[in-house]
Amino acid sequence: MAIRKSQVADRNLRSAIYLHVPFCLRRCAYCDFNTYAGLGHLIPQYVDALCAEIARAPDVRAHTLYFGGGTPSLLSPEQIERLVRAVRRRFGLPDGAEITLEANPGTVDRDTLSRLHAAGVNRLSLGVQSAHDGELRLLGRLHTWDQAVEAFRAARQAGFTNVNLDFIYGLPGQTLDRWRATLEAALRLGPEHLSLYALTVEEGTPLASRIASGELPFPDDDLAAEMYELAEEMLEAAGYVHYEISNWALPSHECQHNLVYWRNESYFGFGAGAASWWAGQRWANVPHPTEYIARISRGDSPVDEIETIPPQLEMGETMMMGLRLAEGISDARFRQRFGVGLAEVYRDQLTEMQRLGLLVWDGRTVRLTQRGRLLGNQVFQQFL
Ligand code: SF4
Repeated sequence: MAIRKSQVADRNLRSAIYLHVPFCLRRCAYCDFNTYAGLGHLIPQYVDALCAEIARAPDVRAHTLYFGGGTPSLLSPEQIERLVRAVRRRFGLPDGAEITLEANPGTVDRDTLSRLHAAGVNRLSLGVQSAHDGELRLLGRLHTWDQAVEAFRAARQAGFTNVNLDFIYGLPGQTLDRWRATLEAALRLGPEHLSLYALTVEEGTPLASRIASGELPFPDDDLAAEMYELAEEMLEAAGYVHYEISNWALPSHECQHNLVYWRNESYFGFGAGAASWWAGQRWANVPHPTEYIARISRGDSPVDEIETIPPQLEMGETMMMGLRLAEGISDARFRQRFGVGLAEVYRDQLTEMQRLGLLVWDGRTVRLTQRGRLLGNQVFQQFL
């Protein structure tokens, strides 16, 4: 692959490292991620392949590391530690760099979490999804709410002081009161970070079939918007900063890794299906872990697709991602990166979106309004 290193040196952007762990004990009813149940026996070979791919990576500095999946907590603490060491060695992660691991309640206990913490993981992201056991069953999750609480407490005892909890709203049949009860239960735990996602019914999933057959009602978009507004009110009252459309954090606990994505800075993904974006190119690895392991063991490239991103598209994507953030996009930063100001490129769009009450543009920074956050996709399209 021809990589244009000079652009990165010029831009002085931050970089993030993502390691994909495409294994789950069972597939959840709504999931269309690149993950596989029943392939856990491949984990040792997969970890070897990840280390080999990391060792071959371009020589750049990185600032964050994220283990995502799938279920990264299916790897042993020793395997995680080996991968952390490989990333530190290759990318010179600074001391204290954010290292996040996604974990599913029910796959971790206090001892495992203590060993993960000792291995250098300093941020834990628990996929809780609901505080209601009936909703957890509907989603096909393996755990109960009590197990989620147990995992959270175990994380605290293991020394984690930066914990994210993921929740999903807009479920078939979910009421506003039940969502309120989930938010209250989450707030009682006092995590540093909350990610709240509206359910997307993905084609081909068991949940989509149950909805299509009429067994379950189709999620109600208006009710989902009310749930979002309720979350905004409750979390703000509890001291959380709504720093990204779907993410809230206590002050200074924003996810540093995801900020790299939202600011459209560089990232390197390793593992099956992992995507990377660097020096004007985006590429993705083969999705299946067996094929990924085979390619790496033959010494072949695991890359499946490469796309060159022209500057115009990079600008559009920078707008689309950056508008997700409450900080918005600064004209000075945009100009430093692209050599032109926001108004020179997007005068018409900025004027029109402002007229519709979806954006605020003061000549220095552009941000979504509250209404713009609810209609984000409509705004983003204008810049692509
Ligand atoms: S645990 Fe996450 S990645 Fe695995 S099947 Fe469930 S939703 Fe998908």
